Amino acid sequence: GGAAEPPPKLVLDLERLANVPSDKAGPLQRYTATIQSQRGDYNGKVLSIRQDDLRTLAVIYDQSPSVLTEQLISWGVLGADARRAVQAEEG
Ligand code: C2E
Ligand code: C2E
Ligand code: C2E
Repeated sequence: GGAAEPPPKLVLDLERLANVPSDKAGPLQRYTATIQSQRGDYNGKVLSIRQDDLRTLAVIYDQSPSVLTEQLISWGVLGADARRAVQAEEG
C-alpha cells in the first residue's frame, strides 16, 4: 500500500488472445467470453478486467498472479505496465 499512483488498469488485447493456441489460452478465452456475455460487450478489441479477476485466473492456472502476468505479457495479451498491478498487490 501507500503507492502514489493508482494501479494500472488490466486491459486484455482480445485479438492477441484469440491468436494464442487454445491448449494454453483456453481457460482465459472462456473466462473473457463469459465476462463479455455478462456485460453484453461483444464488439471490443480490448476488455478491461477486475484486479480480482487476475487473482481468480491465477488460481485457475495454478500460478502466482505475477507469473501469470508475465505469461500474459509474453503473449502480448497484457501490456508491460500490468506488472505494476501485481506489484501493488504483492509488493
Ligand atoms: P455487478 O458486479 O453487480 O455489476 C453491475 C453493474 O455495475 C455492471 O453491469 C456495470 O454497469 C457496473 N459496474 C460494476 N463494476 C464496475 C466497474 O468496475 N466499472 C464500471 N465501469 N462499471 C461497473 P454489467 O457491466 O452489465 O455487468 C453485469 C454483471 O456481470 C456484473 O454485475 C458482474 O456480476 C458481471 N461482470 C461483468 N464484468 C465483470 C468482470 O470484469 N469481472 C467479473 N468478475 N464479473 C463481471
Ligand atoms: P473502472 O470502471 O474505471 O473502475 C475502476 C475501479 O473502481 C474498479 O477496479 C473498482 O475497484 C472500482 N469500481 C468501479 N465501479 C465499481 C462498483 O460498481 N463496485 C465496486 N465495488 N467497485 C467499483 P476493478 O474492479 O479492478 O475494475 C477494473 C476495470 O474493469 C473497471 O474500471 C472497468 O473498466 C472494468 N470492470 C470491472 N467490473 C466491471 C463490470 O461489472 N462491468 C463493466 N462494464 N466493467 C467492469
Ligand atoms: P453494483 O455495481 O451493483 O455492485 C454490487 C456489488 O458487486 C458491490 O457491492 C461489490 O461487492 C461487487 N462489485 C461490483 N463491481 C465490483 C468491482 O468492480 N470490483 C469489486 N471488487 N467488486 C465489485 P458494493 O461494493 O457494496 O457496492 C454497491 C454499489 O455501490 C455498487 O453496486 C455501485 O453501484 C456503487 N459503487 C461501489 N463502489 C463504487 C465505485 O467505486 N464506483 C462507482 N461508480 N460505484 C460504486
